[in-house]
Amino acid sequence: MEKKDYYEILGVDKDAGKDAIKKAYKKLALKYHPDRVPEDRKEKYEEKFKEISEAYTVLGDDKKREQYDSVGHNAFNQGFGNSSSGSRNFGGEDLSDIFRDFFGSQFGGNPFRNTHHANVGDDLQYKLIIDFEEAVFGCEKEIEIRKNVSCEFCGGTGAKDKKLEKCDKCHGEGRIEINQRTPFGIFRQVADCDECEGSGKIPQHKCNHCNGNGIVHEKIKIKIKIPQGIDNDQVIRVEGKGDAIKNGKSGNLFLIINIKPHKIFKRDGEDIYMDFEINFSQAALGCKISVPTLTGTKKIKIASGTESGTIIRLKEEGIENINRYRVGDQFINLKIRTPKRLNRKQKKLFEELAKLEE
Ligand SMILES: [Zn+2]
Ligand SMILES: [Zn+2]
Repeated sequence: MEKKDYYEILGVDKDAGKDAIKKAYKKLALKYHPDRVPEDRKEKYEEKFKEISEAYTVLGDDKKREQYDSVGHNAFNQGFGNSSSGSRNFGGEDLSDIFRDFFGSQFGGNPFRNTHHANVGDDLQYKLIIDFEEAVFGCEKEIEIRKNVSCEFCGGTGAKDKKLEKCDKCHGEGRIEINQRTPFGIFRQVADCDECEGSGKIPQHKCNHCNGNGIVHEKIKIKIKIPQGIDNDQVIRVEGKGDAIKNGKSGNLFLIINIKPHKIFKRDGEDIYMDFEINFSQAALGCKISVPTLTGTKKIKIASGTESGTIIRLKEEGIENINRYRVGDQFINLKIRTPKRLNRKQKKLFEELAKLEE
């Protein structure tokens, strides 16, 4: 079979840069990730996912890409020849590593993890935007998401009166045998029964609310505790709050934290940074200033003869680490404000000063 062009698979130009290739892959990989696709399209998506991963393994690597550009698929036939189902080894590289790079280890090493456990709902992802202070001190949030939930009218059974009877098709076994005729003979394959979806039971009377599916797609509210010290792009895993699935376990919900910038503080890990302006005379003579901290204001002493760009460190006035093993510091960058407009008196004083300095 003729192999498809890798550039075509990723939908990028032949002269696309590394970043563009990475971006295109990431987008497609998220779309076709086997953990997140509809049950009925899983196999098709898995094939597609492998295809794009294979393309990226080559085009994302300068050396392999060069080889591919000059000799095409022939350069890789050995490694990629038959990527039979379940194989995730493309040209000697474990795909899970690529995945970890992109999505962090929270998403699990093996992207095909769920394919053979059909009874786990899809994992969901949600970008949660919180305020700077909410991240620093922790908070409780309520989010609203649309997802598959177990039908409350039938308790997820799909049966109006919650009464189930033995499935006729599989005689309650949940599994059926399929005989497949091939040129090499007949192969017997065991698969989940499509009538009862592997449970061996079907409703006597279908539940009207979920049409017998046991699952409905609804907007629901979820309360989430955000731990103090959480940082941008960190992920909170909420067990069992992903998509529900009939006769199975719900997937997980992954909250990706996005922190709004603060109007004064900048954050770097547990430390916070800020600029603070003082004027000429304050810098020259020394003074006391009131600076904002995370917990209020603090009076600090500025020594006489302080230069612009002096950094003052307030120990442990930063953010407490999410694991509570360290409290960061606050750094204040002092900037000396040069007066732009002087009144007559100020001008006179500066002139006198200038004379003294000559
Ligand atoms: Zn059945
Ligand atoms: Zn129902």
